[in-house]
Amino acid sequence: MLLLRVTELRDAWLDSFMKYCRFQFNGEAQYGLVESVAGRDSILRILLSAPEESDGDVEGLRTRRIEPIALEEAVLLPPVRPSKIICVGRNYRDHAAELGNEVPKEPLLFFKPSSSLLAPGGVVRRPKISERVDFEGELCVVMGKTCYQPASDEDVRPYILGYTCLNDVTARDLQKKDGQWVRAKGCDTFCPVGPVVVEAADIDPWAGVGVETRVNGEVRQSGNTRDFIFTLDVMIRYIAQALTLFPGDLIATGTPAGVGPVVAGDLMEVTVEGVGTLRNSVVDE
Ligand code: ZN
Repeated sequence: MLLLRVTELRDAWLDSFMKYCRFQFNGEAQYGLVESVAGRDSILRILLSAPEESDGDVEGLRTRRIEPIALEEAVLLPPVRPSKIICVGRNYRDHAAELGNEVPKEPLLFFKPSSSLLAPGGVVRRPKISERVDFEGELCVVMGKTCYQPASDEDVRPYILGYTCLNDVTARDLQKKDGQWVRAKGCDTFCPVGPVVVEAADIDPWAGVGVETRVNGEVRQSGNTRDFIFTLDVMIRYIAQALTLFPGDLIATGTPAGVGPVVAGDLMEVTVEGVGTLRNSVVDE
């Protein structure tokens, strides 16, 4: 038993990073490295510091071995702790059209507050102030390095730590009614994120990554990032002209066509190809 414990506590450098989560472990929030064991995603090591605080040096993070935990059995938390969550609206032509909006000439930006973050498996609450709450499945960028006004010929990809799934839950009636979207986009539980962050090199949103949303198992949105109106580098440059992006900050990249309302009891699933599936149920406040 003692021997096992010594093995468990041996620290190691993280040689390579593929995907990680954040989860409750012995009463504390920890970052867990997610690895495949017999075809099953499992947490075998915890990271001793936050990947988004490594300023791009993820390989230098220290890890500690633990008894394996199946990812699906872990109590997951949002995998990042962003200083801000920036969303790009109407970034797919067919989605802009379905709500009767023009295709924007420049990226349309808005914020979601960090208080709206919700863990994978967490319950989205339909607030009393709204009669229509919609799902919006999106690919989400996790920043890895501080980025402010990069040079026009500079490659912005090294600033990206990785990608995750995000559900940009929206009170559609309040979005129409309010001049600003603070309530429509910012209610508590309106920003489910996760379940994992995959390494930036693992998927290529420029080449095309599938984004699918299902409600109660039925496919409602099926898009691909190759149809972005503004590509990721354009989005990052545009945002970083105005404000500093810090490691851990999130950029929700817009939702494809097919948005629609949910009611209490519904199960929303956002799948980003190569990342995983973010599942959240719905209740009435
Ligand atoms: Zn959105």
